Amino acid sequence: MSSHEQKAKAGQPNLTTASGIPVADNQNSLTAGARGLLLVQDFVLFEKMAHFNRERIPERVVHAKGAGAHGIFTVSKDISRYTKAQIFSSVGKQTKMLARFSTVAGERGSADTVRDVRGFALKFYTEEGNWDLVGNNTPVFFVRDPMKFMDFIHTQKRMPQTNLRSTTMWWDFWSLVPESLHQVTILFSDRGIPKGFRHMNGYSSHTYSMINADNERFWVKFHFKTLQGIDNFRQEEADRLVSQDPDWATRDLFEAIERGDNPKWRLEIQVMPEAEAETYRWNPFDLTKVWPHGDYPVMEVGIMELNRNPMNYFAEVEQAAFEPANIVPGLSFSPDKMLQARIFSYADAHRYRLGVNYALLPINRPRAIQAHNYQRDGFMRCDDNGGNSPVYEPNSFGGPQENPAYKEPPLKISGDADRYGQPLVDEDYIQPGNLYRLMPPDAQARLIDNLVNSLKTVPQFIQERMVQHFYKADPAYGQGVAQGLGLPLP
Ligand code: NDP
Repeated sequence: MSSHEQKAKAGQPNLTTASGIPVADNQNSLTAGARGLLLVQDFVLFEKMAHFNRERIPERVVHAKGAGAHGIFTVSKDISRYTKAQIFSSVGKQTKMLARFSTVAGERGSADTVRDVRGFALKFYTEEGNWDLVGNNTPVFFVRDPMKFMDFIHTQKRMPQTNLRSTTMWWDFWSLVPESLHQVTILFSDRGIPKGFRHMNGYSSHTYSMINADNERFWVKFHFKTLQGIDNFRQEEADRLVSQDPDWATRDLFEAIERGDNPKWRLEIQVMPEAEAETYRWNPFDLTKVWPHGDYPVMEVGIMELNRNPMNYFAEVEQAAFEPANIVPGLSFSPDKMLQARIFSYADAHRYRLGVNYALLPINRPRAIQAHNYQRDGFMRCDDNGGNSPVYEPNSFGGPQENPAYKEPPLKISGDADRYGQPLVDEDYIQPGNLYRLMPPDAQARLIDNLVNSLKTVPQFIQERMVQHFYKADPAYGQGVAQGLGLPLP
């Protein structure tokens, strides 16, 4: 052994088993003779092997491939007239946060530069608990009723027999669920393949609410605008990177932060007074619609800066559990049906993927406050489990107590319990058409090209259904796609 190696060895701790027992030989297994069979007594080998066999946890059923970083949010404008949330309590206030960006459909090892929606998940470690905003890089979504979500995601995954992905599944579903047209238009536009995670916007997509110190409620949408500028890959470049550098976006984010080129986003909000939701021309809780900026202009709130890479991907990104249920006093939900379902489904997914005590993992714990509750036990409880403190409430022996000061103002709702379909109406085509019309001609041409390239592989009756939808959004849009597919003009 060289003196350098000896010195390095001298400074290192002993290698041990998980129970701390020093390991004398980590290179050679215990055998009966030099050529011999393994001895079951070799607990070092079998512990090492058994742990390795269990290294993978279930990947997220959606958003499996992602990258994350730590950062800081700084308030730049006073919005205390809308919310009493402490994170926004004063200009200059800073809150530590975590971001995770992802593709949606691909598996954990899939390529970054594919045409897909991107996840934009944020966790703010506020002094009133963790606030998670789990959005996308698009302001709308494919469906507006959660009953359709699982079917939609199945179309993005693999076919039951061949285990292949299928554009026929996508377009069959989209042609039969035309409320998806708005999101489909974004997906096949230039913004469908962002140039990494730094050059895209993030949106709450859902409408949430804010509650101020006078207990007034406002409906709100959150927009995170990239300060790096929007930039996108063209299809050909993205296709090349799928084979040459499938982790392009993951690398781009990590390397930018390593060299101190910290990515930043400006948080803006659109705010609607509570009563206006009754009379606004769009259903403000429909996830397939935006609030046009002309109706509700954006207001600046603050700057999010990502400034620190994770030291360990598994601990800080793979185990990160974001959930729309995590709102803090002064922020709350809305009647958006998709949001309502996500309040349940994310926590449910984390309990499956990470176990019932997922909130105790270091990356998921609140940082600026300690959690106090009467939850006890469960698999992998790895703190002191509440020690010997009372395990029920109310009790006469101390412990955390509810605080009615945090009660929300009541939300007026009405109606009969029923299953309300929201039939597709002409107005569903207006916003996709608006988006098409705001694109410059070259962007419109690329949109049509991308659609035609994807649609040309699917049966003609599905192409024809889609052309009708594009046509209703804008005649030129429908005619462009029809022409590209060699179909008669609608
Ligand atoms: P505006 O002209 O005020 O806003 C247009 C918006 O479209 C901008 O936010 C712009 O983003 C965004 N945009 C431009 N190209 C694309 C694209 N390829 N994919 C997605 N977004 C894009 O108009 P309106 O507010 O009246 O909205 C018109 C249409 O713009 C909507 O129907 C919707 O499709 C789309 N849009 C609207 C948003 C909203 O919240 N109102 C948000 C995002 C899109 P940027 O400012 O970053 O360039």
